[in-house]
Amino acid sequence: MSAIVIDGRVVARASRDKTAERVREFVRVNGFAPGLATILVGGDPASEVYVRNKRTAAAEAGFVDFHRHLEATASERDVERTIVELAADDTVAGILLQLPLPDGLDRSALIECIPPTKDVDGLTTLSQGRLARGTVGLRPCTPSGIIEMLDFAGIDIAGTNAVVVGRSELVGHPAAELLLRRGATVTISHSQTRDLRSVTSRADILVAAAGIPGLIGAGHVKPGAAVIDVGIHRTENGLVGDVLPEVAEVAGWVTPVPGGVGPMTIATLLSNTIWAAELSIAGGASI
Ligand code: ADP
Repeated sequence: MSAIVIDGRVVARASRDKTAERVREFVRVNGFAPGLATILVGGDPASEVYVRNKRTAAAEAGFVDFHRHLEATASERDVERTIVELAADDTVAGILLQLPLPDGLDRSALIECIPPTKDVDGLTTLSQGRLARGTVGLRPCTPSGIIEMLDFAGIDIAGTNAVVVGRSELVGHPAAELLLRRGATVTISHSQTRDLRSVTSRADILVAAAGIPGLIGAGHVKPGAAVIDVGIHRTENGLVGDVLPEVAEVAGWVTPVPGGVGPMTIATLLSNTIWAAELSIAGGASI
């Protein structure tokens, strides 16, 4: 058996086209284009690539580019001032602080400087609380992208057993929350899980977000399961995920690396940004 490959580039393209249409409509009605602010601190090469890709996609969708690049030596106060200045600009719809930050900067404190109405990465305490409660709010991009891919593939989430490998604030934990909200019975496994294989092999939907290359092999996967690979690792043999290629022989659906979850993260960032812009015009309604 060979799994169906859920092509993130195709799903992302459709989502980005829809967002671009909403941006055009926003400009037509309001007479200005909404902005996306990206803040990069330091020169981490992977982060530079991610930020560049986000800016290019945002510009293509019609957003105004507000980019701030701070030196690795920037103080927490410098970063805070940058966020506050962007937050005060009514034309900036969304603010994204690229992670990880250089050592010595308090990531949680800086994230809290982003107003929840502009928190397009869904990482502030308020956004996370709204996610946990299931009330309206901006959701983290990668987990939202995962749900969109499952929907695109026609996978009915309600009633399934879903296992999320990893409990990070950015991916694992919010992905589990979203799956729970959609009616899955959710298990979160993590670095202290004793027998990973016995947990993952019960999953109808398996989200691999541990950040360990090749952690999930064919023996971890229930035949016919949907396996979403969130990992991305640079190796001598190119980019690889947390999931081994052999999984495609067992699973019903897999996502490629690259070209899976990555493009979806950008697409959902853009849909979050246009939503934030629409809400701000509506007086910041509900968030
Ligand atoms: P990301 O931002 O991609 O989610 P992190 O490095 O922040 O990545 O988080 C990795 C997560 O993976 C942690 O929650 C950790 O507990 C989990 N993890 C690490 N090793 C294992 C393992 N062997 N089995 C299951 N989960 C693991």
